Amino acid sequence: MGKPLILLTNDDGYLAPGLLALYETLKSLGEVWVLAPDRNWSAASRTRVFHKPLRVSPVRLPDGVLVHITNGSPSDCVSLAILGLAPRRPDVVVSGINAGANLGRDVTYSGTVAAAMEAAQAGIPALAISQDLGAENGEEKVPDYQRAAQIAASLVEKLLANSPLPSGTLLNVNVPLERPKGVKITRLGTSIWRDYLVKGKDPRGRDYYWLAGEMMNSPPPGEEDTDVWAVFSGYISITPLQLDLTDHRLLKALRVWEMDFSLPAK
Ligand code: MN
Repeated sequence: MGKPLILLTNDDGYLAPGLLALYETLKSLGEVWVLAPDRNWSAASRTRVFHKPLRVSPVRLPDGVLVHITNGSPSDCVSLAILGLAPRRPDVVVSGINAGANLGRDVTYSGTVAAAMEAAQAGIPALAISQDLGAENGEEKVPDYQRAAQIAASLVEKLLANSPLPSGTLLNVNVPLERPKGVKITRLGTSIWRDYLVKGKDPRGRDYYWLAGEMMNSPPPGEEDTDVWAVFSGYISITPLQLDLTDHRLLKALRVWEMDFSLPAK
């Protein structure tokens, strides 16, 4: 058997330090092929670019690493690679390391997680990995992407050896800012953000709105088994996710609607 092919992408763009850290660490496990967006697509979710042609170009980073970049979204990167641009079908897909945690219900905004979802949809084992940057108003700390990259490598080894992930599932991994106390296998929490609206006037006197948020300083109560709690408490969180968003309890409860639904006359 030849070397496994590891497809690497992100949503922060090809110049992000987290991407390079992953490349340097994962290359000992196989052939790493990089296709990343040419700009930052954070919070792009599963955006697909269908209204204009996609371009892909090889670029050599200053330290000599060859990457491929595109004007497409993170999901487009994975799709392009799987549908024929990668040298062969990837054995595993890694997305990250995102600058900032992707936790709880906010994962549905994430371009980092979306890229891994695209791989899951194609039946390829995938993980998204994000580095928590701590409280926004706290003193600025430089994250150790090397540490998160090593955590990703341990998981990639597991996925390559014997992936427990059925098609349509993926792993969402978050790494705390300080040295991790351990690993927690978690469910998704709610959110670490309290949103608020800022309204102002632009220089032409028109109203503008800024959707802003403030990070909570502790997880909401009752979330001790969640990713939010784990990262707040200094643990690495690993959350298995599935693309099937069906609510199976509601599915049963709503079946009664099939019987007494008033259909339009024609
Ligand atoms: Mn990002």
